[in-house]
Amino acid sequence: MKKIVVIPGDGIGREITDSAVEVLKAVDKKFSLELEYETHDAGGTAYDKHGTPLPTSTLDACKAADAVLFGAVGGTKWDNVDAKLRPEKAILGLRKGLGLYANLRPVKVFDVLADNSPLKHDLVAGVDLVIVRELVGGIYFGDRCESEIKDGVERAWDLENYSVPEVERITKLAFETARLRGKKLTSVDKANVLATSRLWRRTVETLRAEYADVELNHLYVDNCAMQLAVNPKQFDVIVTGNLFGDILSDEAAVIGGSIGLMPSASIGELTSLYEPIHGSAPDIAGKNIANPMGTILSAAMLLRYSLKEETAARAIESAVERTLADGYRTADIYADGMKKLGTVEITEKIIERL
Ligand code: NAD
Repeated sequence: MKKIVVIPGDGIGREITDSAVEVLKAVDKKFSLELEYETHDAGGTAYDKHGTPLPTSTLDACKAADAVLFGAVGGTKWDNVDAKLRPEKAILGLRKGLGLYANLRPVKVFDVLADNSPLKHDLVAGVDLVIVRELVGGIYFGDRCESEIKDGVERAWDLENYSVPEVERITKLAFETARLRGKKLTSVDKANVLATSRLWRRTVETLRAEYADVELNHLYVDNCAMQLAVNPKQFDVIVTGNLFGDILSDEAAVIGGSIGLMPSASIGELTSLYEPIHGSAPDIAGKNIANPMGTILSAAMLLRYSLKEETAARAIESAVERTLADGYRTADIYADGMKKLGTVEITEKIIERL
């Protein structure tokens, strides 16, 4: 049996992870995947029950699991909780505790939803890319100084720092990801200015021969930001550092047109964690109107990357695509002439199409 730890979290977390588990159970029946589930608390719900947003029992269960399916955490109810115990601390604790070193954010624009994008239909219809962001290094984890006085002037600084093994690890993952897809990798840096970027580019180049079947190119981050807006279809897999990846992945996410549809994976040394990119949406929690597709597509990524079940992953993705093509919509992506369904009902439509 393959053990999946499910962490619903807060807000709409329970509804959307319930949907994703129903879909996983259906796909398990079809492909005999032998999955078993264990549910654990995190976030505000965990704080209320256990006095901490990330109980040790949750972290230990994740470490022992084949993969983790995560909903979302947070909500106004916990706004006045001590900063160290805020629900969102659970995410940082999981990243650190599980050694989640890479974040994968696919952006796939379904043809039938291309008009939801802020970009023109022709530019975005058919976009299918993945951003691979380094998650535990770079300037977010370097030394920093909040304030110092030098020559009578106050300043602050943050140190950007990357080692060859760190760049090698993320680059290999990006090459492997490209191999499973369109076999094209774009490495993004600022090598015309930064020493860390020059080391990044040199290190990526040393791996080129090992992955000769993948086409590799380099782009400066400013150019990449522009290219994502003017010609996003040129990209297959983009690999970049922590800071550039944070910004580019949010830019790329809006191309898709709805945050309710966007999945993500955080790949780790001990296990990997899969979650939609949106938050706990407290404004719509408990109303059966949340879009579960981002979480269902995260479950497909779980099958692809942690369990190496590519056929089952694709079955989920095409069931979601067919549900959309057949005109079924949750409220967030509803348009005139479509059929509006709740969280539970649209999940049933997806399962019917598996
Ligand atoms: P949010 O993503 O929760 O919601 C933003 C807007 O998008 C809301 O109007 C919401 O109703 C809508 N939305 C989000 N997901 C949706 C879905 N699946 N279907 C339909 N509509 C959806 O962001 P926010 O409002 O800024 O944050 C709410 C809480 O979530 C905060 O406490 C924040 O800290 C937390 N948060 C958690 C995570 C995480 O757990 N990974 C990520 C981001 C925000």
